[in-house]
Amino acid sequence: ADDFDRDFERWVADFWPALLEHFDLELEPVEDEATVAPLRVEIVQDRHPSPYVAAFGAKPMTIAENRELQDPSSPRSTRHLELVLPTGVEYQTGDHLGVIARNDEALVRRVLNRFAFDQQTRIRIQASSATRTEFPVDQPIAVEQLLTDYVELQDVATRSQIKTMLKYTECPPDKKALAELCVEGTQADPTPEDDLYRKTVLEPRRSVLDLLEDYHACEMPFGVYLSLLSPLRPRYYSISSSPREMDRICSITVGVVDAPARSGRGTYRGTCSTYLASKPKGSAVYAFVRRGQSGFEPPQDPRTPMIMIGPGTGIAPFRGFLQDRAAAKVAGEDVGPSMLFFGCRRPREDYLYQEELQSYAGQGVVELTVAFSREKEGDKCYVQHKIAEFSDRVWELLEAGANVYVCGDANAMAPGVRDAFRQVHQTKTGGTEEQARAWLDELVGSSRYHVDVWSST
Ligand code: FAD
Repeated sequence: ADDFDRDFERWVADFWPALLEHFDLELEPVEDEATVAPLRVEIVQDRHPSPYVAAFGAKPMTIAENRELQDPSSPRSTRHLELVLPTGVEYQTGDHLGVIARNDEALVRRVLNRFAFDQQTRIRIQASSATRTEFPVDQPIAVEQLLTDYVELQDVATRSQIKTMLKYTECPPDKKALAELCVEGTQADPTPEDDLYRKTVLEPRRSVLDLLEDYHACEMPFGVYLSLLSPLRPRYYSISSSPREMDRICSITVGVVDAPARSGRGTYRGTCSTYLASKPKGSAVYAFVRRGQSGFEPPQDPRTPMIMIGPGTGIAPFRGFLQDRAAAKVAGEDVGPSMLFFGCRRPREDYLYQEELQSYAGQGVVELTVAFSREKEGDKCYVQHKIAEFSDRVWELLEAGANVYVCGDANAMAPGVRDAFRQVHQTKTGGTEEQARAWLDELVGSSRYHVDVWSST
């Protein structure tokens, strides 16, 4: 009726010694109970549930570090992540890491709401024998998991998907509006003004989900919606470390896509970059190493000069290149000059890896040039302007057999940098534009001009 636990503890404390004495037994020492967990929990190194994703050989990798690289005053975010490589997974400087994201909870909830499912709803998918599907068929699965792990939810709606929506829409105003969106231009090459699809779907990047929310009369069944979606694609990130510096851990440098949505509907959050930004240290993500583009690696001979151009997150692979060269220097190898053109908005806002880069510059590992695009009012300064400004040194290194590497934005930066190199050629040789073009083509053809760029708009 009172403290039974105390009475028992007292009784049992005398019980065992009495028993041992009576039977003349000795007890072997045992581990203290407090140090032995009664239930051991082990994270199962499993395959990703989606066979499409599993086909990439993605494995869980634990996040050893996830930190912000931009100043707290910056409106944007760039994350430095370090991931522990599972046994048997290796990388080389210049490789990419493929990451499998999960769709954001809030986004998944929008789909659940639109189809009037609750979070616990489980479904069973049946596919006709002619249908090839990556979905788990003939077995119960939570709709939430399906939407989180299997499909892209933010892809821009295509004309053919809108036509499918049309089939399930009876309400005349919605039917008319949807029909207008998927009309193909009557002219061979419609102007942006008369191409309603471009203006109201493609440019604001409206997804099928956005349209389903806007056209509520559409009664598309959930199975049809699922069949319209692409499997969740891996996103690639340039590995920003060198195995010479850390061989069981690799790092990536992730620019987080998080801005007011072009559709005008709330905030647009990039699937993978926001997923990675949110992952705490100690958690795991599915990822795999993919060999970089052929030639996008430091030259075999460390004496070969390098000219690297990597503004913003384009710096990623070059951090690995410089770690390589720094390690070679420490090992007493004969190391050639390296020139790095980095670019960002302002010195105290988004100068990624500032301390490391400046320290490498101080040690003579790199000749560092930084273009700040928003430091001064008026004309913006980009890496291409700095190439022109340092054309003497650039030309000297090119004449000495330098390899050129360009990484980052494919839309404006990469073409601008090509132009800058052609300009350097013309200035230094007095040659024509045509000759400069041929010279650059030759540089590319002889594997001395390497590009690893992606579209970031
Ligand atoms: P997603 O969900 O894929 O969304 C991106 C799409 O959203 C784009 O089409 C964009 O146009 C659109 N979008 C952007 N803003 C808005 C908005 N406000 N409203 C509506 N739509 C918008 N990235 C890095 O950060 N670091 C790297 O080192 C790196 N290396 C790469 C290497 C290679 C070879 C390639 C191909 C890409 C690399 N990328 C890198 C890009 C990276 O793979 C992803 O594309 C990027 O992180 C965005 O993915 P996400 O899933 O976050 O965004």
